[in-house]
Amino acid sequence: MSLGELQDLERRYAVPTYARNPVEFVRGAGARLWDAEGEEYLDFLAGISVLNVGHCHPRVVAAVREQVGRLTHVSNLYYTEPSLRLSARLSETSLGGKVFLCNSGAEAIEAAIKLARRARAAGKLVVLEGAFHGRTYGALSATPQEAKQAPFAPLVPGFEVVRKSPDALRAAVDEDTAAVLLEPIQGESGINLLSDDLLAAAREACDQSGAALVFDEIQSGMGRTGTLWAYEQTGVVPDAMTSAKALGGGLPIGALITGERLSDVLQTGDHASTFAGGPVIASAALAALEICADPDLLTRVRELGERLRAGLGALPYVARVRGRGLMCAIDLAEGFDAPELARRALLEQRLVINATGPATIRFEPPLIVAAADIDEAVQRLDRLGR
Ligand SMILES: *Cc1c(COP(=O)(O)O)cnc(C)c1O
Repeated sequence: MSLGELQDLERRYAVPTYARNPVEFVRGAGARLWDAEGEEYLDFLAGISVLNVGHCHPRVVAAVREQVGRLTHVSNLYYTEPSLRLSARLSETSLGGKVFLCNSGAEAIEAAIKLARRARAAGKLVVLEGAFHGRTYGALSATPQEAKQAPFAPLVPGFEVVRKSPDALRAAVDEDTAAVLLEPIQGESGINLLSDDLLAAAREACDQSGAALVFDEIQSGMGRTGTLWAYEQTGVVPDAMTSAKALGGGLPIGALITGERLSDVLQTGDHASTFAGGPVIASAALAALEICADPDLLTRVRELGERLRAGLGALPYVARVRGRGLMCAIDLAEGFDAPELARRALLEQRLVINATGPATIRFEPPLIVAAADIDEAVQRLDRLGR
């Protein structure tokens, strides 16, 4: 089928919620993608920080192949090994409590909201300006963006939006607060790192009031920042956290991970999902988690992140560079349009990147990217500015 025919099908049959770029991808390997014409692209978005292990990582492919021909689904009424092994590995590599598996990021946020409300009945949920936590009703209610929320009112009650200031946060959290939910690095709003002061204030306010501090690591986790989880570099340990995106090595999964204090709050019958932690996806996630938890890989992510930021900072049209590990963004100089630049990068330079706003472009390459790929991406961007 030609691209024109696909666009025809989309126009007629797809609910028009997506603004797609005019490229059809048919194959991926490592940090590279190929379109239907056989043209090769360098992928510095990784499916929005999903392919941290790279496209079609051989260990993920082997794990899926092995499991998909053996057993795909029995429901959570029975035992299967991959799901419980995955829960154990997630706990051991993070907060040490218990794990609820689900199928997406938004679902992980829903589970976190239910956990918080179950721990403190009817408690208020404090979220930050600029946050993105997903598109289902609970997650959307935690995502204070007018354009995303307004058409769908009324939202879930009990959310309070706070400025990204330690004082504002301290003032908002009290004995009626169920949780403070935040991304340690805000992804969709343009890779904005929360300050150490703000995170320390959140920890302190939650300790004093008994509220749960929940980190959304759906985008920042799985090695993206150069440690398996972003919280490891903040000096603050949350009471619970969410993972999704890269957790499945390219397949859909989400997880709520608790620390010990909250590990037995949700009880039998409180929450469930038919597909959650199925054997195929759990096998894929086990493989992806082992790859991303490798200390050598994580060291490389930190080094490559510095290399990428140095290269980006030298581009003539870049005003600011920020990020941690391979979770990076640039703000463009006056007069440059980020969506237009990202589109030209894709179509003219075969470089896959993404604009998070009118002047901001994000870079989230697979963590297995080569140093030469980083240099190549920067060169392609440099050519765009000429
Ligand atoms: C992508 C994302 C979500 C939502 O995940 P979905 O799988 O799209 O539902 C939530 N929080 C953060 C920080 C994200 O980046």
